[in-house]
Amino acid sequence: MTADNAVYPSDRVRTILIPSACKTTTCILTLAFPQNRGSYAGIYASGFRDFLLDPRLLQALQDAAFEHPSEVQQECLPQAVYGQDVLCQAKSGTGKTAVFVLATLQQLIPDMGTKGVNTIVLCHTRELAFQICKEFLRFSKYLPEIKTKVFFGGIPVQQHKDILKTDCPHIVVGTPGRIEQLINEKDLDVSKLKRFILDECDSLLDNVEMREVVQKIFQATPREKQVMMFSATFPGDTKDIARRFMYSPLEVFVDECKLTLHGLLQYYVKLEENQKTAKLNSLLDNLEFNQVVIFVKSVQRCTLLNKVLNECNFPSIYMHSRLDQETRIERYTAFKDYRSRILVSTDIFGRGVDFERVNIVFNYDMPPNADTYLHRVGRSGRFGTKGLAITFVASDEDEAILQQVQDRFAVTIQPLPDKIEPSAYMSS
Ligand code: AMP
Repeated sequence: MTADNAVYPSDRVRTILIPSACKTTTCILTLAFPQNRGSYAGIYASGFRDFLLDPRLLQALQDAAFEHPSEVQQECLPQAVYGQDVLCQAKSGTGKTAVFVLATLQQLIPDMGTKGVNTIVLCHTRELAFQICKEFLRFSKYLPEIKTKVFFGGIPVQQHKDILKTDCPHIVVGTPGRIEQLINEKDLDVSKLKRFILDECDSLLDNVEMREVVQKIFQATPREKQVMMFSATFPGDTKDIARRFMYSPLEVFVDECKLTLHGLLQYYVKLEENQKTAKLNSLLDNLEFNQVVIFVKSVQRCTLLNKVLNECNFPSIYMHSRLDQETRIERYTAFKDYRSRILVSTDIFGRGVDFERVNIVFNYDMPPNADTYLHRVGRSGRFGTKGLAITFVASDEDEAILQQVQDRFAVTIQPLPDKIEPSAYMSS
């Protein structure tokens, strides 16, 4: 890679640690990246071929219509494929998943004849685990020997034990509780593990109880392994906590104030609490959209708002953590497959999940903090597409949070205008 920051505006300059040939040393290199060009296509590598990926992976990438590596892929893939630890921050929806999926599959190819679990990926929700597993399946479609399974709670543990006994996968994706249980009960043998990956790592490391579970799983694995962690946000001392799991990682961080998505229009509507539903109805009637996610602050409000929308003839579905597991995956899949276009959700779908066609996000209820705002609105405008985020502001507390968002991410959120051209928030 070359450093050429004279060519591009300083907005996109960031410092990353690039490992030199040996795993123990790093050098600091400043790279520059171009302004948004309507996608996250990068400038350095002409294609995925430059990462010396196996032809079967390249074929799967081509089938998935991944033409050019995104910035985060260009920054991380060379080191990740090489086995380097990676600590990576990147904006929502810019292609983090493919970094660890491709790096894992590429390194696993020589080992695919070996039995035993080679890689564990942990994340905070069951639907995200399901989504990540699907990404492994998508990119290993020409590598049928490589097996990936997903394990999370809400499903009888015996099913997972049977899979581990009869059809042990190379890659396990899961939520921490179920993975810990399977290790404790000696069904999941991690003694030969080569890779330990956390997606949305701050949500796994910030909560002390969750972190303890992650630590226990980590301690059950061999010392020598590759560790990779990813998120859009690293609040407080998360970076330092993450570093304790790693050895001389490649670190990629984004300036906090550059975390908002370029293609995303952001507005607010000031109103009374009891005006929210009427306003939402009228906006749903008047705005054009492919898919919409409406975020609310509690399970009860989620069910109630969905009911009201259905009564008003909006065919919405809803998602929260108290639904049974089968329904959760069913609804996730219905929305992912575009069989439903309006989703009311709690913060359970506030981060990680990737619904390509979402182009409007409503904060019907204000998120509890600026990070949650960033993750929620990142459900639209994915991978360089356009999007619209509309936030209802109904109290002084809401206003204070909106101000925090603006200060923290250096973005100005204006009142919603009477008219917005659909071309401003719908990608053609
Ligand atoms: P992620 O940030 O990993 O959730 O990815 C966001 C979306 O971008 C997903 O729908 C990916 O399939 C898509 N994506 C990731 N990398 C690329 C790429 N290089 N080219 C095209 N689409 C991509």
